[in-house]
Amino acid sequence: MISAKTFLTDEEKNKVVDTIRKIEAATTGEIRVHIDDACTDDVLDRAVEVFYHLRMDKTVFRNGVLLYIAVKNKQFAIIGDEAINQKVTAKFWKEISFELNNDFKNSAPITAILHALQTIGIQLAHYFPALDILDNNELPNEISF
Ligand code: CA
Repeated sequence: MISAKTFLTDEEKNKVVDTIRKIEAATTGEIRVHIDDACTDDVLDRAVEVFYHLRMDKTVFRNGVLLYIAVKNKQFAIIGDEAINQKVTAKFWKEISFELNNDFKNSAPITAILHALQTIGIQLAHYFPALDILDNNELPNEISF
């Protein structure tokens, strides 16, 4: 039976953490991945709830991005904080959701997740490049459940 904790292998989880660490080295942005067993509410509502619960609205530059996944009903949502939404358009979130949806259908979950993180990372590095004076990992890179 698929569950949030078994959705990825330990090795894959490490890969996610490592990818987030590498992406964040090039940006002041903060990325988190949260995996739930199932989502009984509206997936976007639940993702927003998780976003606040993880205190992702408390970053210095308001440029956190959450990738939320509910494994049993194969739902996901991507939430960006206000500074990101001032930079990227709604089209960007739509495109990345479209890609992620395709990836989840056609590839292993880890492939889909890493691809989405890379796409987000490119935007973060572009709009919020890393600052030499600040090397702050404001939010943990570990997946939350
Ligand atoms: Ca981080």
